[in-house]
Amino acid sequence: MTANPVRLQAIAAVQAFTPPPFSFDPGEEPGEIFGENVFSLQVMQKRLPKLIYKSVLSTIEKSAPLDPEVADAVASAMKDWALEKGATHYAHVFYPLTGLTAEKHDSFLDPVGDGTALASFSGKTLVQGEPDASSFPNGGLRNTFEARGYTGWDVMSPAYVLENPNGNTLCIPTVFISMTGEALDHKTPVLRSQQAMAVHAERVLRLFGHDDPERVVAYCGPEQEYFLVDSHFFHARPDLLNAGRTLFGAKPPKGQEFDDHYFGAIPERVLGFMMETERELFKLGIPAKTRHNEVAPGQFEVAPMFERANEASDHQQLLMTTFKTVAKKHGMECLFHEKPFAGVNGSGKHVNFSVGNSELGSLLVPGDTPHDNAQFLVFCAAVIRAVHQYGGLLRASVASASNDHRLGANEAPPAIISIFLGDQLADVFDQIAKGGATRSKESGTLLIGVDTLPPLGQDPGDRNRTSPFAFTGNRFEFRAPGSLQTVAAPMVVINTIMAEALDFCATTLEDAVAAGTDFNEAVQTLLATIVADHGAAIFNGNGYSDEWPVEAAQRGLKNLRTTVDALPELISPEAIELFGKYAVFNEREMHSRYEIGCEQYVMTIGVEGNLMLEMGTTTVLPAAVRYQTELAQNVAALKAAGVEADTSTLMTVTAAIGELKTGLADLGTALAHEHDEDLLVAATYCRDAVLPAMAAVRTAADALEGLVADDLWSLPTYQEMLYIL
Ligand code: ADP
Ligand code: MG
Repeated sequence: MTANPVRLQAIAAVQAFTPPPFSFDPGEEPGEIFGENVFSLQVMQKRLPKLIYKSVLSTIEKSAPLDPEVADAVASAMKDWALEKGATHYAHVFYPLTGLTAEKHDSFLDPVGDGTALASFSGKTLVQGEPDASSFPNGGLRNTFEARGYTGWDVMSPAYVLENPNGNTLCIPTVFISMTGEALDHKTPVLRSQQAMAVHAERVLRLFGHDDPERVVAYCGPEQEYFLVDSHFFHARPDLLNAGRTLFGAKPPKGQEFDDHYFGAIPERVLGFMMETERELFKLGIPAKTRHNEVAPGQFEVAPMFERANEASDHQQLLMTTFKTVAKKHGMECLFHEKPFAGVNGSGKHVNFSVGNSELGSLLVPGDTPHDNAQFLVFCAAVIRAVHQYGGLLRASVASASNDHRLGANEAPPAIISIFLGDQLADVFDQIAKGGATRSKESGTLLIGVDTLPPLGQDPGDRNRTSPFAFTGNRFEFRAPGSLQTVAAPMVVINTIMAEALDFCATTLEDAVAAGTDFNEAVQTLLATIVADHGAAIFNGNGYSDEWPVEAAQRGLKNLRTTVDALPELISPEAIELFGKYAVFNEREMHSRYEIGCEQYVMTIGVEGNLMLEMGTTTVLPAAVRYQTELAQNVAALKAAGVEADTSTLMTVTAAIGELKTGLADLGTALAHEHDEDLLVAATYCRDAVLPAMAAVRTAADALEGLVADDLWSLPTYQEMLYIL
């Protein structure tokens, strides 16, 4: 009998691997290369006639429409710049609802009549493209016979040149819409929702005396967690390769309980990878800032500086692509799946968000004067109202089969969406709620326009890691998004629910002032009303405790545990009204997103189930049966030699094989089921029938991993994948 060598070969290969040498001077200053490949404002200022540049600037800063003549001039300058950078092609880059990034490449060269070619690129080509992208999911928005979708340049997100050993490409970030103008992507609604939020934020600012405020935007700073695994192991694991996560694997004897990896020294090989990714990101104008080890072995984090939400989400997608490419160069695979290893900490993508503009900074920062503080409290109260009214939508914005492994698993926030303010701020709102009533707590009752807030601690010690939506001194941090997800989806919801809440605040205050109420009094009343109506979402306690779901239910907060529970939120009457009112999605668009969410869930679990059936049948079971044979032969040989044979191991292995076989048979039956046409019914079936069948197979297989002789086991183990880098 021959041992299966796949895994052992992989280990030997990892040991023999030498990381590539730096292809650059590691002493290089980041400033030298920052934005080198970006068609930035500075580049435009240098290359465009003054008036044209001014016109582009006002499109970017004030959302003024882009003039076709201006587009032509920009296109021409962009082409020249890109050709100098060695670009041969250009691509409209868009973000279809698969959550991935799509590109359609075209050559700059257009053949002319005499058999030669001319580099051409007009304003029209820059501004609009028509990819034949009929196979992207659209949730019924396009019939395939009318499959055309259009891409259109997002002027606010700069074009860039992407380098590749085989030729460079000019990339133009675009929206992707149907013939009838419906959004088929993640960028369009970010832009729409940003605009809606800005309008009402500016109304509030005007009430506070900012007569002509600069355009307010949503800022987003995403923190990305990821795993690195040696590619030899990765390629020996069909589950990692095809599903992005391990479907089998016993928990290693040494897990993360020592916490010795968290913020520990970064392994040399990983550091080499990080330096190169950062350099690539800098060239693309992506401000990668911090890097450190994360909780689990093999897990790391990168946090770029915050930017405007649409730019941040483009950059975030580009960051993931860059990480994957660079990791391969270093003989590793970068895993963005939310739960690549069961029983080991999963990966999230915290979305730090604030609203503000370059003139006023973040509007979620407590000010120095009572007046500024009152303004801060109104914006904060808007967040409270938004989260309380639409917690279900926030949950739905991060719903996916893979993120379900993480949410509520006592390592990521629970699926209940509550808001953490910290003790001091919570106390402030408490005092406001009790407004007027005499209350003897040190400073007494807080009176807007008179009192200044106590200095609010920004100490990380005050952080509540179990809260899905936490105030962190100058911003809120939404911790539920998964590592694999685009930040666009949660940002769309955050912007839209903030638009509604700020609209409410502005209208209430405007009406009160018009009726002759003193402004400070009006603010006081508004804040007290919001706390009274929406304070139930404020929770400063431990989100992992057993008591919290019980208390949350009493408070009327939703606990949408799985994707199947969460997705219907997208098509609730309240959601459709909300998104329609602020012109972010029409009803058809909401339905399309809901359907795509269900479809992706069904497909993900279908692929995983089939993969598990295949690996269980062709990899795990054969190893177990070989070992069983070996044991049986041993028992027979001992008996033949007249030695008393202990058959207990043989019996244990045989029993475990029996369990595995039963599990595989049940899984096969579950997968053979024909799905209902109603996608939610199909998704519910996957959750309630396929996932439990998969869990049973896994239990049996993982037990066998602890029994079968090591040299027969062909799947790299958790220990190997997590600890050998
Ligand atoms: P921490 O470990 O404290 O969470 P990190 O430095 O890892 O901090 O990440 C913080 C993230 O929050 C970064 O992406 C940062 O740019 C972002 N951030 C900081 N201030 C703001 C703000 N005002 N608005 C939005 N994001 C912000
Ligand atoms: Mg962090």
